[in-house]
Amino acid sequence: MTHDHNWNDARFETRAIHAGQDPDTATGAVITPIYQTSTYAQEAIGELKGGYEYSRSDNPTRTALQTALASLEGGAWGLAYASGLAATQNISYLLRPGDHVLLSNDTYGGTFRLFDKVLTNYGIEMSLADLSDLDEARAAIQPNTKLVWVETPTNPYLRIIDIAGMAELVKGRDIRLVVDNTFASPYLQQPLGQGADLVLHSTTKYLGGHSDVVGGAVIGNDEVVYETLKFHQNAAGAVPGPMDCWLTLRGIKTLGVRMERHSENAAKVAAWLSEREAVERVYYPGLPSHPNHEVASRQMTSFSGMVSFTVRGGFEVAAKIVENTKVFTLAESLGGVESLIEHPGKMTHASVAGTGAEVEDTLIRLSVGIEHVDDQIADLDHAISIATSRQLIGAATRSAD
Ligand SMILES: *Cc1c(COP(=O)(O)O)cnc(C)c1O
Repeated sequence: MTHDHNWNDARFETRAIHAGQDPDTATGAVITPIYQTSTYAQEAIGELKGGYEYSRSDNPTRTALQTALASLEGGAWGLAYASGLAATQNISYLLRPGDHVLLSNDTYGGTFRLFDKVLTNYGIEMSLADLSDLDEARAAIQPNTKLVWVETPTNPYLRIIDIAGMAELVKGRDIRLVVDNTFASPYLQQPLGQGADLVLHSTTKYLGGHSDVVGGAVIGNDEVVYETLKFHQNAAGAVPGPMDCWLTLRGIKTLGVRMERHSENAAKVAAWLSEREAVERVYYPGLPSHPNHEVASRQMTSFSGMVSFTVRGGFEVAAKIVENTKVFTLAESLGGVESLIEHPGKMTHASVAGTGAEVEDTLIRLSVGIEHVDDQIADLDHAISIATSRQLIGAATRSAD
């Protein structure tokens, strides 16, 4: 299979469907085949027919995915991995003992755990700061800082980190700026164009989009970094299988329309929550009241499908809400067509307990899907009334004791 046509001049939605995905040259198959093979026949010793030798090193379905991902992020190259954390691990191979990594303080729990509990065993230092505050970020950079790890919007508080501002801050220093673009997706935000050195994705989320595959990716422009990461992709071997690449590619084709609807629904849900008596605070970068709304409007074309909020009445009420929705399924993860609800303190962010990066125990996180928004709102309304009426009954019972 070849990629004769260069789709780089085409618009995003067109590239999502065609970049890296030209019809198969051997058969004309319109959809990239699942090349379910571990090895490839050689013409003579070391003489490869199509450039493929062994599927840990390269596989045509993975090549298609990597080409598509590079195109969507506006990068020169893309590399795909078995998971988002495998991609993170691969980036860590750019570091040496004694190097320091600066992470945003509400970074994805698994990313934090990898740096805090695993990579520190190999001499990599790490610290956290609120990188949505550029002064705090500047003060947190150390002489041995080699990576600044930005996630924006952050998880679960949906703070916005100014990508161009961070790029300016690390400019001229021997520091690479990595942006975890999982929450925005390349449809809403393209960090390389704003000065980031590398973009990371958990393709498990919006890129795959259907909660049926786990994967990760790194996209960039620097050829030397590419050679290092490509070497380690093969040397360490955390590669995605062809079926996983194919599922991710299928998800990517509809990324644009999905992100439009996720954003539209989330904006309505966030506005509705803001008016509720039981809701204390709503965190959504699309709300004008969000402290980073202006930066978000500058660097994102819309605000994605993630909404977090705190409730009045303590943990009990939060737990009752997440256990009483039906359209919103109680589950970790995000970015699929179906809506999910979770309690970060007890679920996705349980691993930050005792680190100073804890989240409030009245916090609820939503991944707003693409069901009809009226059904989503009715579902939340129902769960909130159950949770708050039980609280009232509980209070009445207690006072009668
Ligand atoms: C899920 C996620 C990851 C980790 O990806 P996996 O595919 O689960 O390994 C990293 N960053 C963010 C923001 C995530 O949501």
